[in-house]
Amino acid sequence: MTQERFDYAVIGGGLAGGWAVSGIRERDQSGSIVLFSAENDLPYDRPPLSKQLWKGDTTLDKIYVQPPEYYAQNHVVVKLGTRIAALDRREHRLRDESGGEYLYGKLLLATGGAPRRLPLPGGDLPGLCYYRTADDYRTLREAARAGRSALVIGGGFIGSEMAAALTIAGLRVTMLFPERYLVSRVFPESLGLALNAAYRAKGVEVVAEDAPTAIETAHGAYRVRTRAGRSLAADLVVVGIGIAPNVELARAAGLEVGNGIVVNERLQTSDPDIFAAGDNAFFPEATLGPRRIEHWDNAVSQGKHAGRNLAGAGQPFTDLPFFYSDLFEFGYEAVGDVDTRHETFADWQEENKTGVIYYLAHGRLRGAMMCNVWEKVEAARALIRAQRPVTAQQLQGAIA
Ligand SMILES: Cc1cc2nc3c(=O)[nH]c(=O)nc-3n(C[C@H](O)[C@H](O)[C@H](O)COP(=O)(O)OP(=O)(O)OC[C@H]3O[C@@H](n4cnc5c(N)ncnc54)[C@H](O)[C@@H]3O)c2cc1C
Repeated sequence: MTQERFDYAVIGGGLAGGWAVSGIRERDQSGSIVLFSAENDLPYDRPPLSKQLWKGDTTLDKIYVQPPEYYAQNHVVVKLGTRIAALDRREHRLRDESGGEYLYGKLLLATGGAPRRLPLPGGDLPGLCYYRTADDYRTLREAARAGRSALVIGGGFIGSEMAAALTIAGLRVTMLFPERYLVSRVFPESLGLALNAAYRAKGVEVVAEDAPTAIETAHGAYRVRTRAGRSLAADLVVVGIGIAPNVELARAAGLEVGNGIVVNERLQTSDPDIFAAGDNAFFPEATLGPRRIEHWDNAVSQGKHAGRNLAGAGQPFTDLPFFYSDLFEFGYEAVGDVDTRHETFADWQEENKTGVIYYLAHGRLRGAMMCNVWEKVEAARALIRAQRPVTAQQLQGAIA
């Protein structure tokens, strides 16, 4: 069998992979590039899948990372619907699921993550939606006719956004999650409980502090049994209970893997010819310490950065990534460790529901969440990077 050879191979046509290609081309205009994606779509932005697409603010053809013609114009070979099944580091060889073989010079693993499955009876029933891709959007959009009912399992980012999206689409939505309030890992209690109330005011039935134990189908609908003895019926079930990083290729190839593929500050794995970026990469963040981040800005900036480094830039990755979300009219941008296990302090204006929540540990700022407050990401980054001893009083008005 012939083996095509490429100077650069990118496995994963998501956000990090899509941006990596332009990072490579910034430094090397002639080296050959191949991008493999298990999906059938060119690299696209995922955030609109749970937001703007449901509000009618955009369409699938407008959310590409690069316009479709970019790849041919920049001599990038794109192999869609092609999952790489094996990586031979010694031979610098990749094999896809159909047996196709490719040789690479430098390789980027931008394989992202896969939705966690519900480990319970009925958790693998056909039609259950573990929401992640444009194809999931197409399928759900088709099924999500106004007046139907949807049960959203999970109260984190995806669950909360999808409950809002489906409500906007005219469905009767129930949310089921084990915590006391929405997005509880990130929101302090008072704000989280206020969000529960805001969702209820929008017509969402919020079932908190309960969890599914089994899922069945009957007469074309689902019935979800819960720990507290509830029996919830719905036409559609959408599950958003987190993701697991796609690390199998890396692990099988003998790369160092922990909570993600372990990379150094240049996003290089334990093999100097292989890099990783995005949701799958465990990297040494300079201010806050080693971590893996499952957010858009990180995937975009690491993807681009890794691309440049594949092409020889050799630069450390120093961005402090931010993330954002929209829940009905409530939107926020956040930087750093926005984790409610830290001490939190809210600089809040109740009358217009805006403000900044600060997250502190050992008297130093770890993270900041700007709620309905915009264009303050750089200010938040600077405060966190400073790592000066700081009190809640000193933080009053520091960002907003
Ligand atoms: C619905 C939704 C909404 C979101 N909204 C927000 C938001 O509002 N704000 C925010 O900050 N973040 C948001 N995120 C998170 C953000 O989109 C992710 O952090 C980002 O997509 C990660 O990019 P990635 O390239 O690392 O992985 P992915 O985008 O998951 O891409 C990985 C790609 O690799 C492919 N792949 C995996 N293994 C192989 C293989 N062996 N061979 C070939 N291809 C392979 C996958 O099929 C996939 O196409 C959202 C995510 C989702 C799903």
